[in-house]
Amino acid sequence: MPYTVPKLTDYSANGLLKAFADAKLAFRDEMREVKSEAEWKVFRDLWMARKNGILTQINDQLKKAPKEVKREFGQHLNELKQYIKSEIDSWHSFTEGGAGQLTAELERVDISLPGVRRAIGAEHPVIKTTNEMVRVFQKLGYSVAEGPVVETDYYNFESLNFPPNHPARDTQDTLFIAGQQSKPQRDRLLLRTHTSPVQIRTMETMRPPIRIVIPGTVHRNDPPDASHSPMFHQIEGLAVDTSITFGDLKGTLDHAMKEFFGSNVKTSFRPSFFPFTEPSAELFVSCFICGGSGKRGPDNAPCRPCKQTGWIEILGCGMVDPNVFEFVKDNGYDPKKVSGFAFGMGADRIALLKYGVDDLQLFFQGDVRFLQQWA
Ligand SMILES: [Zn+2]
Repeated sequence: MPYTVPKLTDYSANGLLKAFADAKLAFRDEMREVKSEAEWKVFRDLWMARKNGILTQINDQLKKAPKEVKREFGQHLNELKQYIKSEIDSWHSFTEGGAGQLTAELERVDISLPGVRRAIGAEHPVIKTTNEMVRVFQKLGYSVAEGPVVETDYYNFESLNFPPNHPARDTQDTLFIAGQQSKPQRDRLLLRTHTSPVQIRTMETMRPPIRIVIPGTVHRNDPPDASHSPMFHQIEGLAVDTSITFGDLKGTLDHAMKEFFGSNVKTSFRPSFFPFTEPSAELFVSCFICGGSGKRGPDNAPCRPCKQTGWIEILGCGMVDPNVFEFVKDNGYDPKKVSGFAFGMGADRIALLKYGVDDLQLFFQGDVRFLQQWA
């Protein structure tokens, strides 16, 4: 039975809601029966014809409705009109006329045109440098260790022989996580200022002997400039066994520098201080830009990277301080029985030197015109 507009008597909110829901359901049921273009036209006129179509009949009822419900009635009617119109239009576009439209749409795609080429990413120069350095140590039998960037005071400082209030802490402008004051100092969180916490974390879980290389991001409260960034990258290493000597440290690092910078570089160790190593040293390599002469080119221009000294500082290193082993003594690191060496370097600085870049910020600005040189 086709839908006929009932005579409306219940003008309450519920009454209107029900009357319009009935009309919508009836429309939907009848529309399912529409199978051809000819039927579609009849159906469209039945509901939408200006003269005596169902929507017009409902509109006539609106005119007779009590004044106070006209507004609500009108809203229901508008919704129904929009629904019916869009359903009737979309039925049509899916059939005869619509199919034609679809074909036209498809033909607009020219399959002989080349596709959209997706730019392939490349290793960032700092990551590339890191990976190259890590591989040098992997070839020596080192395995890669990593750890959290958000660290506790204990792992970042205390267990590395920086006791609370030790002045060496001041050299590492630390970024602290807010709201930690209620915790004991050793549990307070901070952004690690070096990758060294991973040394302790690894010694807590692995018994000696160990040989690890630790790449990762670190943070310090340094304003960004041509040679500083609040976020930078370190590569660190640790070897512990029963009879490791300073000779092992020198031999290992001399080999690694030659492997990385070229077999003709020389190395030089100069005394230094770090809280977690004793003795400590800085490793210099002969300048791989000027060949150690301090001068460049035919007109003997001063070599800037080595400040005309012929030497470039690459890393800090030293024999692990027995105090550090005390923190992991229970896991086999008795300082009377084991010894070891550690080293750490800035991957960003090495990348700057290696690629002759003069501004550290270029590495982190994400400018593809700069970075694509490594693609
Ligand atoms: Zn030089």
